[in-house]
Amino acid sequence: MPDDHASSADPPIAGGSDAAAPTGEQSVALRHIRVLLPLPLPAALDYLAPEAQTPVMPGSFVRVPLGGRSLVGVVWDGAADGLAVERLKPVAEVLAIPRLRPELRRFVERVAGYTMTQPGSVLRMTMSVTAALEAPRPRRVCAVSLAGLAALADTGPAKPLTPARQRVLEALREGPPLATVELARAARCGPGVVRELIAGGLVEERLIAAEPAAPSPPDWRLSGPPLSADQSTAARRLVDSVAAGGFSTTVLDGVTGSGKTETYFAAIAAALAAGRQVLVLLPEIALGAQWLERFRERFGVPPAQWHSDIGQAERRDTWRAVIAGRARVVVGARSALFLPFPELGLIIVDEEHDSSYKQEDGVIYQARDMAVLRASLAQISIVLVSATPSLETIVNVARGRYRRVALPQRHAAAELPAVRLVDMRQERIETGRFLAPPLVAELAATFEAGEQALLFLNRRGYAPLTLCRACGHRFQCPSCTAWLVEHRFTGRLLCHHCGHAEAVPPCCPECLAAGALVPCGPGVERLLEEVTARFPTARAALMVSDLLTGPRAAAELARAMTEQRYDLLIGTQIVAKGHHFPMLTLVGVVDADLGLTGGDLRAAERTYQLLHQVGGRAGRAEHKGRVLIQTWMPDQPVMKALAAGDRDRFLEAEAAARRSAGLPPFGRLAALIVSADDAESADFAARALARSAPQLPGVTVLGPAPAPLAVLRGRHRRRFLVKAGREVNLQAVLRGWLSRVRVQGSVRLQVDIDPYSFL
Ligand code: ADP
Ligand code: ZN
Repeated sequence: MPDDHASSADPPIAGGSDAAAPTGEQSVALRHIRVLLPLPLPAALDYLAPEAQTPVMPGSFVRVPLGGRSLVGVVWDGAADGLAVERLKPVAEVLAIPRLRPELRRFVERVAGYTMTQPGSVLRMTMSVTAALEAPRPRRVCAVSLAGLAALADTGPAKPLTPARQRVLEALREGPPLATVELARAARCGPGVVRELIAGGLVEERLIAAEPAAPSPPDWRLSGPPLSADQSTAARRLVDSVAAGGFSTTVLDGVTGSGKTETYFAAIAAALAAGRQVLVLLPEIALGAQWLERFRERFGVPPAQWHSDIGQAERRDTWRAVIAGRARVVVGARSALFLPFPELGLIIVDEEHDSSYKQEDGVIYQARDMAVLRASLAQISIVLVSATPSLETIVNVARGRYRRVALPQRHAAAELPAVRLVDMRQERIETGRFLAPPLVAELAATFEAGEQALLFLNRRGYAPLTLCRACGHRFQCPSCTAWLVEHRFTGRLLCHHCGHAEAVPPCCPECLAAGALVPCGPGVERLLEEVTARFPTARAALMVSDLLTGPRAAAELARAMTEQRYDLLIGTQIVAKGHHFPMLTLVGVVDADLGLTGGDLRAAERTYQLLHQVGGRAGRAEHKGRVLIQTWMPDQPVMKALAAGDRDRFLEAEAAARRSAGLPPFGRLAALIVSADDAESADFAARALARSAPQLPGVTVLGPAPAPLAVLRGRHRRRFLVKAGREVNLQAVLRGWLSRVRVQGSVRLQVDIDPYSFL
């Protein structure tokens, strides 16, 4: 059994014979335990502690029966309900897994309370890998036999090895023992080849203990590149907060290319030196290949990873390595926040302003905010990193709750790019074309100079709308209030909300006219077509999530760009962050206004952050960069701020507007989404909710109104927005409200605290 990181805060509450109390009554109490199951239940359930087994303490993982099933849950704190012992089912097994630490149990409760979900649903996120809870079964692996070695050395019987057999034996001689399938993959042959070698006695099978060999830990003694004066001041302040111990939140606010990563690596090294684990959250980690490479250069080994693209086996191994303290640094997407670190000493949230930290389904939470909560419960340091911190974070700095550490300059000789607005109202562009003449001219100059360019358009596919010229028919999703987006590479029409896909038909389904379908508006695929037509010799590539098969493909594309195998990259928001291409000098933003429409409270802020980030890809090395932004609204404060590079003025104006409207971070906001299979039930439930809406000082309820996405996946949706002052306990208000209304049939209520999406 791996080390148990029990602390004195965890007294045994039940156990074997020595824990039994002398009187019957007391022993009854002691044998009662509460178990929280990873299910959406309102509370932990009562069970009987096992007799004569390892003591059961809060945090122990136990297997218990529930309605004919057998489930793994966690022994929870607090007194049991006092059901008669005879009515309780006993715990079936105490699992040999280190216990869930008290601060993580408190975290589960607090996240559930804040997001208004069941604690069991949050617990489920901490134990997301069922396989990890099972004792590992021994694995059957292959190893090269003596006869095999002889065959390799050519001293064996006469018959020479086939190239495939040779590769298999070499793979085993050079590397660790592997299972048949893994071995075949490593040797680039079919598993049949391996089986033949086993039959022939050149390869032997063995059973080995299944816990994978611990990866070597990151080496904090290695030194990184020498830091600039600004960087070392900043790094020292981060290191000091780690060393001081206790809870602190520091904002590392540095311009793009200022070396924020190198700077917080110093804090990681300090936490590792102190024997603590580190969690680094990145948005869309799958695309962070360059980050992983830099980590490996700095610390000698890659970190453990946690995101949706890793396979079940790696997930299982990583979860076990985290809880046993073998994984020292984990880099992951937002769900990594719920991993059961026993010795967490530092959390880094890179690109803290990124909206992908908001989880929008299941348990709806903001990972950056919950990361601060976790750090406060664990009493450790957290660093929020960004070139464009969120208004929430800026305001917390102003309120003195967060410290700020600044990196005002780009590293080395690199300068920030010059930003220029292209006023689309003044430009003449042919229909079906989207690049204005100034941007075309800059592209030409860039290619001429042997430099690279990036075009940014936050729209996947070929065209966002397809219509029939003959009858006006528009292609709409059958189950959502949304147009279907044409994806020409795959020849399909896709709904970006539910994934519905259909083939592009040869003629209009409405009027049967042939050849009458026209694409409206640009997507990245259409932009590629335009660029290829204008610059036939430029080597252009698309960087879009739906065309990349995974992190490896993304990394390969980034490498190709770095090595200048491309002149131009066209992409959606995945090109916006993290990348560092030294020869990239021009960034063109094709439709800058795209994010500004719709009733999103953060529309301006998000547009500023996104465009500033994209622009920040230009001129990161010695060649000066420039950014061209095509906009129909050059007088918008966001556009002016981008052109002037005046972030602080923009944030002040944005803060003033939100303060006067009582919106976050100056007030509280929650969305209530009512959905049902049919419009009538949704309206009925919405009206019932409206009738019992809270009427309290400082609380305003807006709605119900049909959601902008009035139908999503076939469900009809109505929205309420609840606004309250900061002094109001919004969750309590909502709980009171919801307890007065009973919804029926297909109706579902979803609460979204601090909503980011208003669709
Ligand atoms: P940011 O995250 O602030 O945008 P990065 O950390 O990506 O900036 O740094 C930008 C580039 O400058 C990277 O290529 C990085 O390796 C390099 N760099 C930053 N600091 C140093 C340093 N002290 N010595 C050498 N190279 C550095
Ligand atoms: Zn749809």
